[in-house]
Amino acid sequence: MPGGAPDGHSTVSIELGLFGRPLRLTATASDQPMRLADVVPLARSICDQVVHRTIEHIQAGGEAPSCHRGCGACCRYIVPLSVPEAFRLHEDISAMPAEQRARAEELFAKAVTRIVQAGPPDIPTDETAQDDSGPANAMAQWYATLDMPCPLLIDQCCDSYSIRPTACREHLVTSKPAFCAGNDPATGNLVAMPFSVTQALAMLAANMEGSHFEAVLMPTALQWCSDNAVRAQLAWPGRKLVQRFANILQQLADRAERQRQAADNAA
Ligand code: SF4
Repeated sequence: MPGGAPDGHSTVSIELGLFGRPLRLTATASDQPMRLADVVPLARSICDQVVHRTIEHIQAGGEAPSCHRGCGACCRYIVPLSVPEAFRLHEDISAMPAEQRARAEELFAKAVTRIVQAGPPDIPTDETAQDDSGPANAMAQWYATLDMPCPLLIDQCCDSYSIRPTACREHLVTSKPAFCAGNDPATGNLVAMPFSVTQALAMLAANMEGSHFEAVLMPTALQWCSDNAVRAQLAWPGRKLVQRFANILQQLADRAERQRQAADNAA
């Protein structure tokens, strides 16, 4: 590991091949206990850099994202949180100034009531399916019927933009905002990210906890965290957790780059 880290810490180097160019990142970590929620600031930073690189790539092809402040059309879509992000969101909201926190908690509680009253659909699982995109899409379509704004959407702006989930950061379109008004994440011209940091966080949680993949419906996150308070405090040596996360990111980026190169060769 290269030097330069504070005493007791070491630097974890991450190099992701994105669109034919390396994205070089570093993170510091020690052997102090680290929880899944503690990885989230690093994940947000990496997500922003992957998104930035993706925007550069589409701009080189003459396109640009049409997303802008005050739109908020996609803030009625389903937002899946990875387990680390659900724990972190709970902590972030707990740390908000009293008035903002009370408003957020009230809006989250109202959203949960709405979801319970509407009754989430019973989506059968297909054991032969290669991934969970079928059930995820069915869930997204159902959620769209609720036409319910995110509890953090205030006056068409994200009230917690700096701590918004990676799923929100990764969602960009190049089409006009009107295409996004139908509450369906599949509409509009989505900007294809090379891989998903949300997925990487979900893989990290499953890997460290020895559990299956989980996605937490954002409005239910506060309730879900109360029900999983013991899990929130599970911790591992920081260096091990960060290195595992780096390995997962590397694996996802390598696979995406191979697929991109194969598609280019076939074109
Ligand atoms: S967290 Fe912010 S950006 Fe994400 S859906 Fe909610 S209001 Fe929109």
